[in-house]
Amino acid sequence: MSSSIRTPETLPESSDAGRTLAGTTLARAALPYAVGALEPAMSVETVVFHHSLHQRGCLEHAAALARGTELDSLSLEQLIQATARAPRHRTLYHYAAETWNHEFFWQSMRPGGGAAPRGLIAECIRRQFGAYDAFCHAVQDVAAALLGNGWLWVTWSNGKLQILTTANADCPLARGHTPLLALDLWEHAYYLDHQNRRASYVATFLEELADWESVDTRLAARLAATPAYAVHSARNPASYSYPSSGVMHHAPAAVPAEHSGARRNPQAAGTGDSRGIHRIQ
Ligand code: FE
Repeated sequence: MSSSIRTPETLPESSDAGRTLAGTTLARAALPYAVGALEPAMSVETVVFHHSLHQRGCLEHAAALARGTELDSLSLEQLIQATARAPRHRTLYHYAAETWNHEFFWQSMRPGGGAAPRGLIAECIRRQFGAYDAFCHAVQDVAAALLGNGWLWVTWSNGKLQILTTANADCPLARGHTPLLALDLWEHAYYLDHQNRRASYVATFLEELADWESVDTRLAARLAATPAYAVHSARNPASYSYPSSGVMHHAPAAVPAEHSGARRNPQAAGTGDSRGIHRIQ
């Protein structure tokens, strides 16, 4: 066997984490846990190839395109905002957004994660979807409806949770959403562990990986920054009062039993349905 074949053991991992790429302010983010910490839900092979090759490549492309330009002092988030609507920077936007998406994806998981959330996010899911199971069905429907590569997001926008997908590297930050949870739907994210079974990958993410505590923290911070919301305690959903004119106030108390809305029209293109299910393409 050729010694040039790369395995997880021979790939670079976090040795250069935090080191700024020359001529920019961009740096490679370390994983928030050990490379094998998500096993058996996500294999060490998947994590290392994904983080060491795909994500690293996106960051290096972004740095190469920003270097020597008026954009070379910007952070990743600033690069996304500066290039999202600039056709001449389309490729730079692609790589900057894809790097940020990946960093957020790793922060959306934790060892021993998954299962039903608690706290504020659980209360928001109950109000909009009726039950966590209905929310999971909606996530599966939206993920299945994405043709090709992209991302599934749970965001906060327009006063409610949104489940949406973005194509390729597109990032909801550039569209005014507050991302709460990210799921990479590119095949490289799951092919080693699940082959072409995207639904199996999504189910594993929901049941064993999703970090709902971090989602709860992000949501609490987002609402605390919104004057219209009276936030009395970030850990006591019952103490949140939603504005009388807010979407949450008008959200249905329960989802139809057959959860038929998302199945009939999982794309709900453009504006999203009453529960915040839509996609951005
Ligand atoms: Fe990826």
